[in-house]
Amino acid sequence: MAQGFDMVVIGSGPGGYVCAIRGAQLGLKVACIEREHLGGICLNWGCIPTKALLRSAEVFHLMRRAKEFGLSADKIGYDLGAVVSRSRGVAKQLAGGVGHLLKKNKVTVIMGEATLTAHGRISVKTDKGTQEVTAKNIVLATGARARELPGLEPDGDLVWNYKHALQPPRMPKKLLVIGSGAIGIEFASFFNTLGADTTVVEVMDRVLPVEDAEISALAKKQFVKQGMTILEKAAVKKLDRAKGRVTAHIETGGKTQTHEFDTVISAVGIVGNVENLGLETLGAKIDRSHVVTDEYCRTGVQGLYAIGDVAGAPWLAHKASHEGVMVAKLIAGQQPHPIKPNSIPGCTYCNPQVASVGLTEEKAKAAGHKVKVGRFPFIGNGKAIALGEPEGLIKTVFDATTGELLGAHMVGAEVTELIQGYVVGRTLETTEAELMETVFPHPTLSEMLHEATLSAYGRAIHF
Ligand SMILES: Cc1cc2nc3c(=O)[nH]c(=O)nc-3n(C[C@H](O)[C@H](O)[C@H](O)COP(=O)(O)OP(=O)(O)OC[C@H]3O[C@@H](n4cnc5c(N)ncnc54)[C@H](O)[C@@H]3O)c2cc1C
Repeated sequence: MAQGFDMVVIGSGPGGYVCAIRGAQLGLKVACIEREHLGGICLNWGCIPTKALLRSAEVFHLMRRAKEFGLSADKIGYDLGAVVSRSRGVAKQLAGGVGHLLKKNKVTVIMGEATLTAHGRISVKTDKGTQEVTAKNIVLATGARARELPGLEPDGDLVWNYKHALQPPRMPKKLLVIGSGAIGIEFASFFNTLGADTTVVEVMDRVLPVEDAEISALAKKQFVKQGMTILEKAAVKKLDRAKGRVTAHIETGGKTQTHEFDTVISAVGIVGNVENLGLETLGAKIDRSHVVTDEYCRTGVQGLYAIGDVAGAPWLAHKASHEGVMVAKLIAGQQPHPIKPNSIPGCTYCNPQVASVGLTEEKAKAAGHKVKVGRFPFIGNGKAIALGEPEGLIKTVFDATTGELLGAHMVGAEVTELIQGYVVGRTLETTEAELMETVFPHPTLSEMLHEATLSAYGRAIHF
């Protein structure tokens, strides 16, 4: 007989496992089905292992700067295998933690591949055969995978996707990274810091194209200073693969040139895992590989929800988790607030780090806002100088009429931690007046959040 649940979550990434736990905490009988690893892409192949790799690169970079800090360090080097095995160990530890949390919250975990067979019915292919499950509510949290462009398909040897790049078979000498979104630029930063001669090709007019233009430009300046070659408005048209070498045909300004590399990382976006789920049977709509949902993650099919990467951009773990909690509350009979897209922060852990929330200056103007813009450079902050991190910028965009904080954009050390100050501000619908009244501790990088607000109104003290 089929096992019955109030809510079945398909996928155990940061969307799925958080949804399952919150649902169980709210008194629902919950199952979570996972075909591969608990924790999904984020813990196993995304957010966490990349940050572990980048931390090794950061420490290496600092060790090379030892003299600046009055220290000495000889024979600085690295063992790529050990760097990777630390990253895999961190991922394993956290994925194990997810299993523990699901158990603690009495969520039934079913390891297997789920397919929807009818309304409220799921068939799960497990190692031990097929298991039938029924559910009053089903939450799709099946995530996404790397997009593959024709001719640029990863092969694991010369051309890598993110999974290959996370456990590289060798250290690239001459590396081409296709795509300068968060995933591409983080890998570029990691391998470049460890000494790979790195070229980044971006089809849009600037690196990190979703960021504020000023922030992209400053980040690019630092990447170039660190030795990266950045090609913007450029497209990789073809890769000719030979033994140990790839010839890339790169088109810029109407001309195609060939460049040789020993390794290519393809980071050209992701596509949702919508296949073989039985969605067609139920009539759920799919648009360009993502399940179409409303602001409450409802698919339009009674009792069927989609959250996280499978439900579309922004493809971020915290967006997935937030949607997971919202849907669990909805199913448990509560009335949650829908997520506000302009209050979802984005963080990129390259060197220098980049972080943002809300509207860029360009988008705020395009949306009809009269804006006041504040800027505060890291060079004006005592803690940044003490840390040896004087390069960077915090930019704020306020509505000139209402004082609403429309957006904040940052590049520099630890900005991925700083951005949350403004995110809380946006959730509280803060204005410039409250931010100005807030006391910031000294000496901290966070003082720049204050100064970048003051600057928008001509009142910055330290610059
Ligand atoms: C290299 C890289 C770095 C990243 N870094 C960051 C970062 O720093 N910060 C950030 O916010 N985001 C980052 N992301 C994005 C982040 O990983 C995703 O946004 C997040 O994992 C999405 O969560 P999810 O729950 O929607 O799906 P996923 O984490 O993709 O989980 C989906 C799960 O569903 C399972 N599944 C799929 N189909 C089925 C089925 N039919 N039956 C059973 N199980 C199924 C899959 O096996 C998978 O475990 C990164 C991604 C990558 C690739």
